[in-house]
Amino acid sequence: MLARKKKVNCNKCQYIYEVEHIDCIFSQEDLSLQLKNHQFYGNKCPSCQNLNIDVHDTLYINHQHRFIICLLPNFKESDTQQAAILNKLLLENKIDNDFDLKRLTVDHLQFVEKINILESELDDRIVEIYKYLYKGKLLKDYPDINKILAYYTVDQQKAHLIFIADTADFHVEFDKQLYDQIYNDFHIVLTKDDDYLLIDDEWVRLFFEKLSDNGGN
Ligand SMILES: [Zn+2]
Repeated sequence: MLARKKKVNCNKCQYIYEVEHIDCIFSQEDLSLQLKNHQFYGNKCPSCQNLNIDVHDTLYINHQHRFIICLLPNFKESDTQQAAILNKLLLENKIDNDFDLKRLTVDHLQFVEKINILESELDDRIVEIYKYLYKGKLLKDYPDINKILAYYTVDQQKAHLIFIADTADFHVEFDKQLYDQIYNDFHIVLTKDDDYLLIDDEWVRLFFEKLSDNGGN
């Protein structure tokens, strides 16, 4: 790995200092734990001790489970520059491109969530469907909710879903039996795709839209 330095400008006192810039993390490294504990992107200003957050383009590689996930926080669908950024990251870190599963994420919470899902050996598309269905139930039970975000997380070996609504947060245990049932109902044949797929709440929304178009009679 290339040890590079990066200049950071403190948000609070404007002091400029250098941090080690790491844009590739392997699952077996300690950095992987830092990432999952949401500490990886934070760095302390040596002058005023303010915690500055620097979320940047990152690759996460898991050879055992044969997947690669990239975080491109400034991703825009139409932006062809992003493909160049990704290829540069792969090339600089000498990563070949031959993985069973490739995923793209656009925010760091989603990035960590995706790692947890794939390392739990779950199909992330099924988890998105699970979250979508549960969200629907919450919106029905609590009509005052306007906006809701959902994340899969693993805490002390136990899997949970966290729903962050504008009115309250909901923590529910991840039900593997329900997951299996959804898997059987909605299983999509896994195809090896050379593209990096963005599987998120927009993907699941379109999935159900298509489903109701096909099923509507
Ligand atoms: Zn400072």
